[in-house]
Amino acid sequence: MNAIASARDLATVADRCVRCGLCLPHCPTYRLARQEAESPRGRIALIQAWAEGELNDTPALRQHLDTCLECLACERACPTLVPFASLMDDARAAHWQSRPTWRRGLHQAWLSLLASPGAAALTGAAAQLYRGIGLARLVAGSGLTRWPAIGALHRLSQQLAGLPRIPPVAVGGEASRGRIGLFLGCIARTAQPGAIEASVQVLRRLGYEVVIPRGQTCCGGLHRHNGLPQAADHRLQTNAMAFADLTAVGLASACVAELRTQPPLAATQEICRLLADLDWPATVPLKPLPRRIAIHVPCSQRNRLRDPDAARDLLRRIPAIELTDLPENDLCCGAAGTYLLQQPRLSHALLQPKLTHLAASGAQILVTTNTGCALHLAAGVREAGLAVEVLHPVQVIARQLAGSESPST
Ligand code: SF4
Ligand code: SF4
Repeated sequence: MNAIASARDLATVADRCVRCGLCLPHCPTYRLARQEAESPRGRIALIQAWAEGELNDTPALRQHLDTCLECLACERACPTLVPFASLMDDARAAHWQSRPTWRRGLHQAWLSLLASPGAAALTGAAAQLYRGIGLARLVAGSGLTRWPAIGALHRLSQQLAGLPRIPPVAVGGEASRGRIGLFLGCIARTAQPGAIEASVQVLRRLGYEVVIPRGQTCCGGLHRHNGLPQAADHRLQTNAMAFADLTAVGLASACVAELRTQPPLAATQEICRLLADLDWPATVPLKPLPRRIAIHVPCSQRNRLRDPDAARDLLRRIPAIELTDLPENDLCCGAAGTYLLQQPRLSHALLQPKLTHLAASGAQILVTTNTGCALHLAAGVREAGLAVEVLHPVQVIARQLAGSESPST
């Protein structure tokens, strides 16, 4: 990256902020900290001062940029349309470009490990072992989970431990409606195998041939939002080749948003919107479900895809269902990709109001359209001892398909 040109670019974009402050009430980190530097306006001012050479790239400055969730609630609220997402991505890229090669290499290595489907499966197996040999009980009893990073890993391990590996899914079908390529993402194979199986089942019942292209990889979001745009672009190009002759359909809103940034993948569909808008044949009825379902709307679904009603529009096809939006759905739950590992204290603090609202809602099921949010919320539900299932909306639909066996959850 050309440091001088990029610094100029950063300063020019940051200059579009007129300091009106309309974004501040929408920013989750500002609401927690009540500090200007933890607000969108403050972060833009810090980036501008750094780009113009008035501030050095110190750990204190980095901390204020790193605590940004990239939830983009600020971008939605901004009257002058400051492109906050690309500004923050570019600032992070400029920072990492200026770090020593070995340090950047380490950063890239751990992100690539996280984004690797093989590593996700290994993590699931390790989590099962952690529980199986009693280490989880020991750690919980020792009080070590009071440390935010250990607490976050412990909660996630509890969640992954109980989950099965992706069951073998039958692909193919009569294809009266055409052929669809299912995008799995990196962590969903281990974290949400039931959602993948449910998606295949529902799409096939509706007349699609479903293909799971072998060449697909992580969407690149983890790399892009952690300052490694070239590694992100490489993953997008790999996916563009894997889905070259297919309509790509994704289960996770954050992945769909990321895929759509690559022109050949611009038509990638989010599965809830696809199924909600489809003309359902009378031969595929849904059984009534007289239960209350709470809807969590991920930031990527609301602020990147700009389609906050997709899950609701799909689920209201089910007779007798009672749908309720989780209050404060416009505030991030704290998952935010790698944020739950990198900023465990803030991530945990942002999760708590969600759990309070969920407990008060009386819902027996919580649905969300993003894998990271599902993992984070399910870990919180488990820790809080709530009797609530956390599911992808398509899993609820699959359970209500008349005449079919429900896929695992
Ligand atoms: S992206 Fe979210 S956390 Fe970051 S400044 Fe904007 S509102 Fe705040
Ligand atoms: S709303 Fe937009 S212009 Fe106003 S302070 Fe926030 S980023 Fe700047």
